[in-house]
Amino acid sequence: MESQKTIGIIGGGQLGRMLTLAALPLGFRVVVINPESNSPAAQVGAEEIVANLYDPVALRQLAETSDYITIEIEHLDVNELDAIAKLGKPVNPSPEIIRIIQDKYAQKEFLVKAGIPVAESVAIEAVDDAQKTLLNFGGKMLIKTRLGAYDGRGNIVVQSNEDIDNALEQFAGTPLYAERFVPFDKELAVMVARSMNGDIALYPIVQTIHERNICVEVLAPAPVDDDIIQKATAVAKSVAELLQGAGTFGIEMFLTSDGNVLVNEIAPRVHNSGHYTTEASRTSQFEQHVRAISGLPLGDTSMVVSAAVMINILGERDGPTKLEGLADALSVPETSVHLYGKSPTKTDRKMGHITSTGKTVEEARNRARTARKALSI
Ligand code: AMP
Repeated sequence: MESQKTIGIIGGGQLGRMLTLAALPLGFRVVVINPESNSPAAQVGAEEIVANLYDPVALRQLAETSDYITIEIEHLDVNELDAIAKLGKPVNPSPEIIRIIQDKYAQKEFLVKAGIPVAESVAIEAVDDAQKTLLNFGGKMLIKTRLGAYDGRGNIVVQSNEDIDNALEQFAGTPLYAERFVPFDKELAVMVARSMNGDIALYPIVQTIHERNICVEVLAPAPVDDDIIQKATAVAKSVAELLQGAGTFGIEMFLTSDGNVLVNEIAPRVHNSGHYTTEASRTSQFEQHVRAISGLPLGDTSMVVSAAVMINILGERDGPTKLEGLADALSVPETSVHLYGKSPTKTDRKMGHITSTGKTVEEARNRARTARKALSI
């Protein structure tokens, strides 16, 4: 028998937890780096190096103990990842693609260069750049931080010079860019996977629904016309072909009112818009990622149910985590609850998610909403 192989994950949050839950049954050992002990991943069986994700000593330690290295978050020191890769340990996805993706403006430029449709963007260095851009963009745009943004932190919609002043004050000291406001009809997303030998597998196109810039619901498959599915699939395929290295990637898109599909952004990792695959797909995004980064063949991405809806369980207040209503939530048919083992609860912190399946998206959505209402955390 081959000796047990180890997967090293940089980050031990909910994505690391669900990757661990997929890797262990395939016989892997998992080690994560996480800034706090008892991380969501460690609670389900990953070993843990407690350190800052930028700590070079911890990263070397992870590299030494692992056969395959991957990430659950893209806000990392890519130079260190490069150094690990040069030691001969496979790092996937490639540090080069993580470097491009982690700077949202560089990512936009990369997509534009490849002819992928995106919202027009301009780097902002000073107030007058922003004011000129606002005029060029028709009086409405977003100012976004280039680095380190997640869950909507790092985006402000601006419509006046006063808004610009406020945004620049709020984001002082971080590189920024401005993006034309897209009056979208819907937001779509798709998970794509790339194997080590360059095979590509696409999951179905889903619809994502955001509130306060945070994903709250995912509808699978996206309830849109076939021609939109085809358009979004073609865009996703061309993005997948541009990516480098193995792994699962999330691609977020806007569907505009005139039926065009624009890429919003790429996540170089498993993604919230793919959580539904655990119940709804032959191969979950988490298993797919484990397969991809360890040189195994990609799995079947087709759905095993007609429809699935995922609802995030976001924190409703700040304080100790106290779960209530689990029995009521689980009495809803075809419904699964995933809790991430995080404490404390914070407003809008991702504490868990619910996935319901059904014959139609509407049926699955009603189930997921009923279960969500029954729960408080
Ligand atoms: P981001 O973190 O940049 O993906 O943005 C989070 C959310 O903000 C998106 O899912 C959209 O709901 C909204 N958003 C981002 N960029 C734009 C845009 N250019 N136009 C309109 N809404 C946007």
